[in-house]
Amino acid sequence: MQEHSDLMRGLGRTIAFVPTMGFLHEGHLSLIRKGRELGDNLIVSIFVNPAQFSPGEDFESYPRNLDRDFELAQKEGADVIFIPDGKELYPRNFQTYIELEKLPNHLCGISRPTFLKGVATVVTKLFNLVKPHIAVFGEKDYQQLIVIRRMVRDLNFEINIVGVPTLREPDGLAMSSRNSYLTPEQRINALCIYKSLKKAQELLEGGVNDAASIINAASGLIKSNEGTNIDYISICDPETLADMETINRPALMALAVKMGETRLIDNMILNPE
Ligand code: AMP
Repeated sequence: MQEHSDLMRGLGRTIAFVPTMGFLHEGHLSLIRKGRELGDNLIVSIFVNPAQFSPGEDFESYPRNLDRDFELAQKEGADVIFIPDGKELYPRNFQTYIELEKLPNHLCGISRPTFLKGVATVVTKLFNLVKPHIAVFGEKDYQQLIVIRRMVRDLNFEINIVGVPTLREPDGLAMSSRNSYLTPEQRINALCIYKSLKKAQELLEGGVNDAASIINAASGLIKSNEGTNIDYISICDPETLADMETINRPALMALAVKMGETRLIDNMILNPE
């Protein structure tokens, strides 16, 4: 991988990189298209990163379909599909990790304490292997995106991080590889996640600007659907992720909800204007 990238850099080509865990859907493909637009050489990685899963999470059962992913990524114009080997990325006695001090103390970092450390570490490793000029990430995983932006600034990576808006199913559910876990009934009920974000924006437009009332309404809407279990609903500063009490400037509303065993996340910027 590094030899390829050295060669491309030697030829003056711009390398765009899209890291994924595979089981590609339209959301991933929109990132790949953005990468295709921005770089001369487009590299897509597929790696289900064990370091970002805690024991008891879905590392083993995470959906995988390399043949289909390969075809889709190639069709969208990927020049290289990089599928690193887990044992090579994490050899015996591996012991160096990247940890951020503050951003993981919010949102998903609370219920998934090793998740962002695993993400920051694998993304650093992939950056060192792929040597991209540009890397593309989805706003769907908002906290992940800002953790990577912070890390790139803090550690002086010479990489331009590009965010891409969340792609949704026609009814509004954010696309996710994990949607494949949902039963037909859960799939219908999962719509309440997006509906709760829309409801929040509506309330705000109607003049309700205190975060607690909006969270309360969103939570009520979600709980009225069977089989839902709220992990968190937060209205917070889009940069620091610190809770906001009053929405008097753009705020991030982010939530994680379990539909049975399947944990789904979504977010939206609430804009008082
Ligand atoms: P994953 O394979 O879930 O690790 O995701 C790989 C990349 O795709 C990440 O940067 C995600 O934020 C992004 N992504 C996942 N779902 C979506 C979506 N529905 N819309 C846009 N980007 C997404």
